[in-house]
Amino acid sequence: MFPVTLGHFVPQYAAQEHITRQRPGDFQLISGGVADMGRLIMNVTDERYSRFLSGWKTLYFMTVEHAEKYADHYEDFKVGAGFHAIRYDRPVGHPDRHKTFLGHNTKPTRETEKICAEHRALEQAKGAGYDEIIGIVTVGKPRLPEREIEELVTPTLHPCIKCQRELAMHPLMRRRTLVITCKFETHPHPIEYQCHTFGQILRLHGQSGKIR
Ligand SMILES: [Zn+2]
Repeated sequence: MFPVTLGHFVPQYAAQEHITRQRPGDFQLISGGVADMGRLIMNVTDERYSRFLSGWKTLYFMTVEHAEKYADHYEDFKVGAGFHAIRYDRPVGHPDRHKTFLGHNTKPTRETEKICAEHRALEQAKGAGYDEIIGIVTVGKPRLPEREIEELVTPTLHPCIKCQRELAMHPLMRRRTLVITCKFETHPHPIEYQCHTFGQILRLHGQSGKIR
C-alpha cells in the first residue's frame, strides 16, 4: 500500500490544546480503502506517515475551526482542508520538516466561481517550499444525492472532480498520499470518516492523472 520502513517517531504537534475535545470513540471509521486504521497506525514506523497518523485528529479540529471561521458559501456549504506537508531538505526532528496548511472554500454568491479548500491549502504548501503532501484531512457535509449530476455519491465529502484533477497533476501529490475525509455534521460524537490513499480516491471516481 505504501512503504513501511524503519524511521523515527517524532512527537506530535505542539498545539495540544486542540485535542482536548478528544475522547475515546470520538472518531469512527465508517468505510474506506484503507480499511483498518487502528492496525495501520500501530504498524507504521515510517517517520513521514507516523507523524501524520498520530496527529491527524488534531489537524481535524484545526481544520474545523478554520472552516467555521473563514469558509464563505452562499448555501452555507462550508468545507475545510488540512494538508500535512513534508520537506526532505530538513532532517528528521527539524521543526520545519513537517508543517500543516489549512484551507477553506469560498463561493459567496451563486454567480461567483468557487475556490476550493484543497486548492488553498495546496498552494500554501507549494509556496512555502514543501516537497510532498503526506496526508490530507477534509471536513464537509456529504453532498445530497439530488445535487449530484456527474459525481459519485459518497458517505463523506470527497475532493470534487475539479480538485481531483488539480491534485492529480500537482507536483506535491502522490498516489500514496493519505486522504481522510470527515463529516462536518456529526460533530461532536462520533466524527465519522473515511480513509483512502489518493490513488484509491482517483480510481473510485474514475479519474486518472499523471501522478507519481
Ligand atoms: Zn474542490
